Amino acid sequence: MTGLTFTVEPNAQPVSAQDRATLLENPGFGKVFTDHMVVIRYTEGTGWHDAKVTARGPISLDPSAAVLHYAQEIFEGMKAYKLADGATALFRPQANARRFNASADRMAMPQLPEELFLESVRQLVAIDKDWIPAAEGGALYLRPFMFASEAFLGVRPAHEYLYMVIASSVGAYFKGGAKAVSIWVSEDYTRAAPGGTGAAKCGGNYAASLIAQKQAIEKGCDQVAFLDAAEKKWIEELGGMNLFFVFADGTMKTPPLTGTILPGITRDAILTLARDQGLTVSEAPYSFADWRRDAESGALVETFACGTAAVVTPVGTVRSAGGDFTIGTGGPGQTTQRMHTALTAIQRGTAPDAHDWVLRL
Ligand SMILES: *Cc1c(COP(=O)(O)O)cnc(C)c1O
Repeated sequence: MTGLTFTVEPNAQPVSAQDRATLLENPGFGKVFTDHMVVIRYTEGTGWHDAKVTARGPISLDPSAAVLHYAQEIFEGMKAYKLADGATALFRPQANARRFNASADRMAMPQLPEELFLESVRQLVAIDKDWIPAAEGGALYLRPFMFASEAFLGVRPAHEYLYMVIASSVGAYFKGGAKAVSIWVSEDYTRAAPGGTGAAKCGGNYAASLIAQKQAIEKGCDQVAFLDAAEKKWIEELGGMNLFFVFADGTMKTPPLTGTILPGITRDAILTLARDQGLTVSEAPYSFADWRRDAESGALVETFACGTAAVVTPVGTVRSAGGDFTIGTGGPGQTTQRMHTALTAIQRGTAPDAHDWVLRL
């Protein structure tokens, strides 16, 4: 146990039930926020203190707060779902708690006890559970994050941090549901280098990826895929999702966790589910040249991206400076759909939870 008790300060002016219902009709992603947030402070020497659930609102920071200058910041992304029986649940939140600490370690930030992470999320879901949209694919997206709040411009790990959790009501991530997305393969920019922060879920990785994402949009694509920084040969992942490749011989492949790829919890769940279903899956490097060649020869039949926000999303077309190619039929493939169905059924409590992934709240 952490010994910390949360002070709960309910929002004195919550959104009315009627306005909330209107907001939840078409929430999109990351723009409808709930009435509350969690805040916990960290001070070197004292540790974690002043845990509270309070009205969501702006925070006050000194302009010299270290995060604004040196980007010492990490985050997590997870979803609270309504189960078929009406209960509320989280999917593998212990894995998020562990990964949060792995990210903290890489960014020279303090560890947050796993139980405190879980309790913070439980508290926020409990007070804002009416913000979970009832519609198919709807969820409460939880965003735990931590940043250096100390007012100090010297370059060293900060001595003060804020940990917060906010929540956003979300519909399906990509507008248009399970429609296949188009991918731009960036050969100008890389996301993560050996020894860098690629395996940490930190804001800095996203900051560095935005120019490539912008380029993808300019090229008419939905998302950007990055190659490895050392050889610019191997496919790594998208800006915020891992990739899987499905072959005509029934095998599957995903790039290995070498330190430059974010270890996705969805990725891990799909590896497990695929093996449960008797598929042969390997974590092995796959080159951009092979991806193109195999798609053109028909040896590769599907590619999908996966992550908490978008779950499982088919990749239909791939574009690069060297030309375009289509994956399979250009639409969602069978294995992609099967994985999406298997995963969401467990998350929603309509299929047996053989791996104990669902935490009922
Ligand atoms: C969060 C994230 C993922 C997906 O991780 P999940 O745990 O499956 O949500 C993949 N890649 C990057 C870069 C990420 O930040």
